[in-house]
Amino acid sequence: MKFVRYGPPGREQPGLIDADGRLRSLRGVVDDIGPQAYGSAGRRALRRVDATALPLVRGRPRLGVPFVGIGKFIAIGLNYRDHAAEAGLPIPDEPVVFGKWTTCLSGPFDAVAQPPHATRMDWEVELGVVIGQTARYVGVADALRHVAGYCTVNDLSERQFQFERGPQWDKSKGLDGFGPVGPWLVTADEIPDPQALDLRLDLNGERMQTGNTSSMVFSVAQIVSYLSHFMTLRPGDLIATGTPPGVGMARQRFLRPGDVMELEVQGLGSQRQQIVAGRDRVADDARDLLRLR
Ligand code: ZN
Repeated sequence: MKFVRYGPPGREQPGLIDADGRLRSLRGVVDDIGPQAYGSAGRRALRRVDATALPLVRGRPRLGVPFVGIGKFIAIGLNYRDHAAEAGLPIPDEPVVFGKWTTCLSGPFDAVAQPPHATRMDWEVELGVVIGQTARYVGVADALRHVAGYCTVNDLSERQFQFERGPQWDKSKGLDGFGPVGPWLVTADEIPDPQALDLRLDLNGERMQTGNTSSMVFSVAQIVSYLSHFMTLRPGDLIATGTPPGVGMARQRFLRPGDVMELEVQGLGSQRQQIVAGRDRVADDARDLLRLR
């Protein structure tokens, strides 16, 4: 199944994309696309729903993040060999783990406002993994059983915040709008092999990133197993699994207002975001603290 949430921000309605690519409403069937829909019991129950009997949604409403209940938004760094090489960083011995704050989540077509102190914004197309069943200390062979489905994620980043503000990545990854997710949550039964998916990202119509999940250093199963030994993974937790080569950092080309990103993971749908000038301002009395002068 392809779950979606449609409507204005904060007032999204649950829906699905039918076999003909049409948006149909799940109102009255589920309250929202939460664990009750994408968890193992929910998916079993929804399989009995006749999609052709659900009402079609008119027009082309905005799409939001395609599911709710994202307690944690975790990301893996340097997980493609060729991307580690372009970043000039060694291929990691263990997964590089960092957090994206859940306040960075946004819809797949929402504009991204440039933060006022951002100078090196960058793009990263990634395979997103959605947990469907609580995972603690799970083995690699058992890991994919805990996955509800997959989605396209843009792991937007600010390279100056990432590399020049201390030994962490978190400050660069969780700004508002830095986590577009969707358009769909595609259930795992439709993605038999998550290690065989093409990824691509275009900037202003020009191809920047091309990759395939077969080039991951650590597989989805290894990542889920590894993380489950450091935290309890809960239904709804979202894991961005790393990006293939072609990011702006390697090209010395950073995002500016007016730029348009279009990105897609095979079978999971494509996103499109425009960068716009932000309206926020750095507080005057925080400029020294932020080393802005
Ligand atoms: Zn990333």
